[in-house]
Amino acid sequence: MTETENNESQKSNTKICTKCEKELPATFEYFYRKESIKEGLRSQCKECVKEYQQSKKGKEYKKKTNKKYRESEKGKETIKKWNENNHDYFPQWHENHPEWREKYKQNHPHRIRDYFRKMKKDDLRKYKQYLEYKKIHEWVKRNKPKQEYCTICNEIKELELSNISGEYKRDITDFWYLCNHCHRLFDKINQTHKKQ
Ligand SMILES: [Zn+2]
Ligand SMILES: [Zn+2]
Repeated sequence: MTETENNESQKSNTKICTKCEKELPATFEYFYRKESIKEGLRSQCKECVKEYQQSKKGKEYKKKTNKKYRESEKGKETIKKWNENNHDYFPQWHENHPEWREKYKQNHPHRIRDYFRKMKKDDLRKYKQYLEYKKIHEWVKRNKPKQEYCTICNEIKELELSNISGEYKRDITDFWYLCNHCHRLFDKINQTHKKQ
């Protein structure tokens, strides 16, 4: 490749940010996606977009557009659908984000109460069961000796605790360590057995 050719190809693969004017590779690593324009990249680089989003002006803009969206017909429809499909998302997400949970509880005590009131009986039962499973899981994690190999495939991988009987007993022999692949496979086979 000659020097000019090299320069040409480099030129076509880069993009100049309209804000900081840096020449950067025209990839999703450096630019956010924008579907409405042809090449699919925004005109400002990620760094500049982030900087804007974190600025006071950017935050205010986002707040305004979010509010507008929430109040629009399309926004209302989307939120409604989301709530219908994810009514079990809320408690689980908050379970995993205790710092947010506390904040949310303090700021919206009535919302939490209403949420559990509106929750279907079946969902409430599932949620309680989920909390119970989680407790047992943590207990087993503390009490079962660690191992390096997946119990089924014997490979050294990142391991997960998998329940064997499906009954979630508070018993370390009712659990084994599996890699993610074997865990999913085992659960799948177990599920079909149960249905039969
Ligand atoms: Zn930039
Ligand atoms: Zn495995």
